Amino acid sequence: MELLALHGGRPTRTEPFGSGKRFGEEEAKELLEALEQNTLFYYFGGKVNAFLSDFNKIYGTKYSVATSSGTAAIHVALGAAGVTVGDEVITSPITDQGTLIGILYQNAIPVFADVDPHTYNMDPTSIEAKITERTKAIVVVHLAGNPADMDAIMAVAKKHRIKVIEDCAQSYLSQYKGKYVGTIGDYGCFSTNDFKHISTGDGGIVTINSEDEEDYHFTHAFADKNYRRDRGETYRDVEMLAPNYRMTELQGAVGVAQLKKLRWICETRTRHGDRISEGLSGVPGIAVPKVQEGCASTYFSYMLRLNGEELTCTRAEFCQALDAEGIPNMPGYIPDVVYMTRLFQNRTAYPGSHFPFDLNGTTYERGLCPIAEQVLQTSVSIGISEFYSERDIEDIITGVRKVALYYSKR
Ligand SMILES: *Cc1c(COP(=O)(O)O)cnc(C)c1O
Repeated sequence: MELLALHGGRPTRTEPFGSGKRFGEEEAKELLEALEQNTLFYYFGGKVNAFLSDFNKIYGTKYSVATSSGTAAIHVALGAAGVTVGDEVITSPITDQGTLIGILYQNAIPVFADVDPHTYNMDPTSIEAKITERTKAIVVVHLAGNPADMDAIMAVAKKHRIKVIEDCAQSYLSQYKGKYVGTIGDYGCFSTNDFKHISTGDGGIVTINSEDEEDYHFTHAFADKNYRRDRGETYRDVEMLAPNYRMTELQGAVGVAQLKKLRWICETRTRHGDRISEGLSGVPGIAVPKVQEGCASTYFSYMLRLNGEELTCTRAEFCQALDAEGIPNMPGYIPDVVYMTRLFQNRTAYPGSHFPFDLNGTTYERGLCPIAEQVLQTSVSIGISEFYSERDIEDIITGVRKVALYYSKR
């Protein structure tokens, strides 16, 4: 057995991993063109429009709306889906705050479904068990680039006549049985914040997947203070509250250039992630993330799980040993399921108030979604980049294997 670098052995990797420039001449050219328009307002300029039209071409969608963030995109989809005061929205306990913010700003109540232990995505059986007469929508999170079980989720939604919003912030071009995620539910939401597959600094997109033009107009208005610009309305007799989540021409311009790189980014990540799974299959103590039959993950990160029963070390020790081998990693993804944050524990979305939680008396206890809790306690996330070389990927495999074999009970 090889001596771990943690114990003075030779590290698997000492050189830095591959890196590259995400932005260049292409973005600069688009930005300059945007400035030369003499307006940075999406409705007068052409960049946000071009960004959406390119996005629609890639995705085969008819309608989409640009927003100021992924969080905004999800809020807009919730607004478009008619989510309102006292409604319940079922979502995943393993996600970014951005999935939850819009739900609470609509004064609706997040309800958490448990996840599959191998895909870390919402389990359709658990979703169905959480449905009540108050349930208005499901926000499906495609975590870490991996498609959720959409056929089963859509079947549950159809049966109970509830809307499906896909949170694809981590899942650009992830494929589910011949379709891209974000085109299957009623709405698909994307983020272009700086940590996603493509970046405009901040930004987001909502796809409207019904053929209903009115649905598109309503969604569009919900991102723009309920302004029906597309109908040429100048005077606004506003009927309902809607935020200003507009994307600027500067973001649109960068987005146009970034979209040209999207396919390469996603294909490279799929190849890298799948190769790691292949290289780690059968290694004691390691459970590789499961990608469902007929699907493709675009690996926002590579999230594996440790099987404590097969290893003599804790997760913290495993991660330290990997660090020493020169393999960047972090324990879990978020430290704990989102319902263990103080917001849910104290039920304080707004200062000095328990609204909207007091509308249905929901509380959030430890153990609510036991599998999700276990996933976050036993997982290790390894960063993946489209700039990593094949050699980088082989070193990741070698490093993880070395640590796992060292700590293996077998
Ligand atoms: C990043 C992210 C969001 C929020 O996107 P922002 O652009 O940061 O607002 C929402 N959901 C998930 C799963 C994310 O990863």
